[in-house]
Amino acid sequence: MSSPNSEGTDSSPSQASVPESALETARRQLDRAAEHLEIDPNVVERLRYPTTVHEVTVPIERDDGTVEVYTGYRAQHDSVRGPYKGGLRYHPDVTRDECVGLSMWMTWKCAVMDLPFGGAKGGVAVNPKALSLDEKERLTRRFTQELRTTIGPMKDIPAPDMGTDPQTMAWVMDAYSMQEGETIPGVVTGKPPIIGGSKGRETAPGRSVAIIAREAIDYLSWDIEETTVAVQGFGSVGAPAARLLDSYGATVVAVSDVNGAIYDPDGLDTHDVPTHEEEPEAVLKYDAPETLSNEELLELDVDVLIPAAVGNVLTGENADSVRANLIVEGANGPTTSIADTIFADRGIPVVPDILANAGGVTVSYFEWLQDINRRAWSLERVHDELETEMIRAWETVQAEHESRGVPWRDAAYTVALSRIADAHEARGLWP
Ligand code: GLU
Repeated sequence: MSSPNSEGTDSSPSQASVPESALETARRQLDRAAEHLEIDPNVVERLRYPTTVHEVTVPIERDDGTVEVYTGYRAQHDSVRGPYKGGLRYHPDVTRDECVGLSMWMTWKCAVMDLPFGGAKGGVAVNPKALSLDEKERLTRRFTQELRTTIGPMKDIPAPDMGTDPQTMAWVMDAYSMQEGETIPGVVTGKPPIIGGSKGRETAPGRSVAIIAREAIDYLSWDIEETTVAVQGFGSVGAPAARLLDSYGATVVAVSDVNGAIYDPDGLDTHDVPTHEEEPEAVLKYDAPETLSNEELLELDVDVLIPAAVGNVLTGENADSVRANLIVEGANGPTTSIADTIFADRGIPVVPDILANAGGVTVSYFEWLQDINRRAWSLERVHDELETEMIRAWETVQAEHESRGVPWRDAAYTVALSRIADAHEARGLWP
């Protein structure tokens, strides 16, 4: 499993063996969705490019006294509907193009949820597992300082993503606030609740995946009690998704982490499988009748497949071997364009990331509102409002899917794009 990492020149989707970059996938998806819309081609052309990409150098002192220099990025894609919004990723494969592609997905994700935000994504090309806690803190504070004039509570609001967590966000908030001379919780979301984070933010992406999977199962007229599910990844997205689907009555037969997958055709007790937060990379410690590779998990004979680990795992190489009847994307960009085409030809619905995992940014929005109002919401209120927002977005996308007769991804894109295009038209091009 690896994240996309290649230059952003569009290459033919038939080159199945060449990994597609997030930017290539994002641009192809945009072009395809635009075909279904009576949208000004000039707006589409504008949306193929980010507004700005900040590239910074992040030097830190390692614990042994040596200095190491990393490269960090913040891609700001579009802000027509509100401040830029999106995560910060620490991963060795982070590139400029990956940040741009992921920032485009954030623009659509916020628009499909009708949140008053645009899209951004950033990160540092670093292996966070190779850093001590102190080194990670120094990296985060220096990266924040380099981005200090770029981010802000009304400008660009980072959040957790791969390799970062609430503690990382606490350091971002502190570094930014100390330099500004006042406590500014709204500069970042996904913080610990004690400093203005929202209750329920950590599990929100997985929660939305489960809610959307439940709605899709219902739409297909399946009985959730008789539905089997395989989840790739048991971290902040996969674990809450698996556990909630388990509690809705579905049978979760397989889950995995980087070391491999556990499989029980009678169903796993998902609450007994250690999540990444509870004990990192310990899924295989669960006493399951069978273990599998991550690749084998993707090809299991299940009803629902939820790729919730990294990007580009469903490709031209394995899409024909996938046996699930429904795919709900938990990770960002798990399906390449060619795999998407294969699934469409095979009649396997793919519910896209920009809808399914949008619970994360939706609760980030709730957190931002709580920070502005300096008033915390109860967990119950967060769950209720998230449920309402997810159902509303699902129904809007469903109506588009039915009226246009297009796949779920294109339906979600047309909802998002028409809102963005209308906002661009209303505001106009200036200066
Ligand atoms: N990183 C998350 C995502 O990809 C959350 C972004 C946010 O909350 O701003 O959706």
